[in-house]
Amino acid sequence: MVINFNKKIRKRLSIVVVFILLIGGGGYLLKNESSVETLKPNDKKSINRYTMDVVFDDESKRLMCNQNIEYINNTKITLDKLYFHIYPNAFSKKEFAPFEKSEMKQAYPNGFNEGYIDLKNILNNDKKLEYEIKGDKNDLLEIKLGKQLNPGDKISIDMKYNVKIPNSEGRFGYGDNTINVTNWFPIACVHDDRGWNLKGYETVGDPFYSETSDFYVNMLIPKKYKMGCTGNIVNETSDNKKTLYKIEAKKVRDFAFILSTKFDINKDFYKGISINTYNLNKKISSDATKMAKDSIAIFSELFGQYPYETYSVMASDFYIGGMEYPTLVMIDQSLYTEKNKFLLEYVIAHETAHQWWYSVVGNDEISEPWLDEALTEYSTVLYFEKKYGKEVGEKLIKTMEIQTKNHASENIFKPTTKYRNSTDYSLNVYTKGALAFNEVRKKVGDKVFFDTLKKYYSTYMYENVNGVKFVELWNSKGIDIDRIIREYK
Ligand SMILES: [Zn+2]
Repeated sequence: MVINFNKKIRKRLSIVVVFILLIGGGGYLLKNESSVETLKPNDKKSINRYTMDVVFDDESKRLMCNQNIEYINNTKITLDKLYFHIYPNAFSKKEFAPFEKSEMKQAYPNGFNEGYIDLKNILNNDKKLEYEIKGDKNDLLEIKLGKQLNPGDKISIDMKYNVKIPNSEGRFGYGDNTINVTNWFPIACVHDDRGWNLKGYETVGDPFYSETSDFYVNMLIPKKYKMGCTGNIVNETSDNKKTLYKIEAKKVRDFAFILSTKFDINKDFYKGISINTYNLNKKISSDATKMAKDSIAIFSELFGQYPYETYSVMASDFYIGGMEYPTLVMIDQSLYTEKNKFLLEYVIAHETAHQWWYSVVGNDEISEPWLDEALTEYSTVLYFEKKYGKEVGEKLIKTMEIQTKNHASENIFKPTTKYRNSTDYSLNVYTKGALAFNEVRKKVGDKVFFDTLKKYYSTYMYENVNGVKFVELWNSKGIDIDRIIREYK
């Protein structure tokens, strides 16, 4: 995510805009000097498979869903229960809503409006399974399997449920322009070497952690809407009233979609990847497409090829700024103006970098937010450096140094739950984190820095990493990255 959290940031970014205007004519400096490594996707284990039939009822803003999940026990232990996040319930009560108190007016401009998931039944081969709704915000589902699921074994679970979408301008909800359907279905919790990860939908940071899976989704939507989603629309048929979409999203760790009657869709291609922007201000559509395409091109050159066939950048009623989902990002629609163009490019570049750090290479974003956010924020600086020249990158770094002057003693490795608020979180994890990566680059030199990031990307494609594995990879190249980052003030 990137938080366009206050006017201070807007101000600092407008300072940077001035720098860029002064430097001018930076041009497009993407060089072809480094060849992209051939990536071998990790096919070591089978992945979970979600099949969903979804009908959207416009009147009640509800989704009627049938979902099947083929869950594979990829753990080393026998399981008799499974856990799923049911995030819509975090929107079921005002006191649960994952927004800071001061933001409630922005999140709910028309007053609080509930969102939730209503489970009808859960079956295994037509046999009812017992389940319980748990978690501090009722956003956790525990399913008793009624049998032992051994390592490597698979179980098929059918769920029938409705989702009520709230009138809210956060990640999940609808505003005047868009319907943002994200973190909306029961998604399997991750079981890693620490056991089950059952944390709920917290306010600070992106409280998500999931496994790469395959998604096959059929969706029936009123015809008046244009839709952008994770993955590929493989078939689309309409009658007078509705459109039926058949969607495949393979090897992604989540599935999101956004609807609007107002989208101006603009398209381009980069090396066979379909770059689509869904815009609400036509005047900015082609600029947004250029920013999206340049981001995909620059990060593919720097870190390794973007591995999916589509990428969608979607203007949304999302006051917070920007948010990443696999092959799709949502961007606050108010950034699509001539005046905000720099900020728009910053947010698009940041969210696009998350396609590498979060989407393809995943991590627990709650316990180690620095792993994706700090690297993503530094990648954003790299985007500006590559596109507009070294001086622009340096100016961004200078601005970040000024921003974090009073945060020298803070450590960037804290979990999201240890931060008081989003401002504090952002300054430490993003800004100070980006500066720490800049320090690493200065210490090891460009060649080693970028080779190691490429190696990190190709090694952990589609997997979940953690700080230990990240540090070990740098250690294997003789770099004590842990010391460099910890010593950086
Ligand atoms: Zn982010």
